[in-house]
Amino acid sequence: MTRESRTPVLEVRDLRIYYETPKGDVHAVDGISFVLYQGETLGLVGESGCGKSTAAMGILQLITPPGRIVSGQVLMDGVDLLKLDERTLRQMRWSRLALVPQGAMNSLNPTMRVHQQIEDVIRQHQTKTKTFDRSQLKPRILELLSWVGLPERVYDMYPHELSGGMKQRVCIAMAVALHPGVIIADESTSALDVVVQRVVAQTLLRVKADLGVSMIMIGHDMGLMAQMVDRIVVMYAGRIVEIATVEHAFRNPAHPYSQVLIDSVPTISERKPLKITEGITHDPRNPPHGCIFQLRCPFVMERCRREAPQRREIRPGQEVACHLYEQQPDGSYRDVRDTA
Ligand code: SF4
Repeated sequence: MTRESRTPVLEVRDLRIYYETPKGDVHAVDGISFVLYQGETLGLVGESGCGKSTAAMGILQLITPPGRIVSGQVLMDGVDLLKLDERTLRQMRWSRLALVPQGAMNSLNPTMRVHQQIEDVIRQHQTKTKTFDRSQLKPRILELLSWVGLPERVYDMYPHELSGGMKQRVCIAMAVALHPGVIIADESTSALDVVVQRVVAQTLLRVKADLGVSMIMIGHDMGLMAQMVDRIVVMYAGRIVEIATVEHAFRNPAHPYSQVLIDSVPTISERKPLKITEGITHDPRNPPHGCIFQLRCPFVMERCRREAPQRREIRPGQEVACHLYEQQPDGSYRDVRDTA
């Protein structure tokens, strides 16, 4: 598919989400914009607290006080989700836009059997075009369980009778129950051991391929991201610093923060000291003027303290917000470190 022929399914524009504290607002998500295309898997990465999960909750309009969506747009089928009333939103969640939550342990109801919980999602969120009558419910739930690789007996089980990986797969079955167009998987493999992590990741990929849905995967595991996503969105302190195809993100990351992130992934072939990001993040209630990464950037320049860098496409498939890349008269970009 050429870049021009890609169809956007979800567009986030200048989204800002703040949390109120007695000492001022924490800028958890501070003006992020990106597009998710039809059939694409987008990986949202960055250190803990960078705003990845808050952004996901914002897209789904599940932010609760003291958090609030300050401004922005979340467009799906040309409709701004932030302007919808709660009833319409409820119908869109699960049927158009579904979540595989972080930590299945906390999201499944321990007092309800698996089939009752999936049934609940179907009944509460089915729409005129996606309706199941009573007689169709059991076969549909069994089909969903088999789709995610779970045996029939899980239908009647309680969450405590399942392993962590099985619970996570029940959450995936719930997320796809009404065949949504977009799935957001929020750190859905992070609390699992590596073998189970692979099984859950493969389940997500298979379900995605079978249904042709688009997916946003949020996580820390760069190895898993490399195998699963088409493009990577790198977030730092509530802002997007780079968006790149997975090839660019791993072979030639452009932003100094992305470079450290990739260099911190251990490899067997090359034993090298793992890089860490020196310094500490700024006070999130008081972001610095200019570049958001300036306090930790080894390449910081005077201009970085004066002017916030805009995100620009420095080569096809790679956008970065950093003053290190200067546009040349022929339109290409040059890394100023190359001549230093
Ligand atoms: Fe570093 Fe400046 Fe680039 Fe920010 S704009 S990442 S401080 S070089």
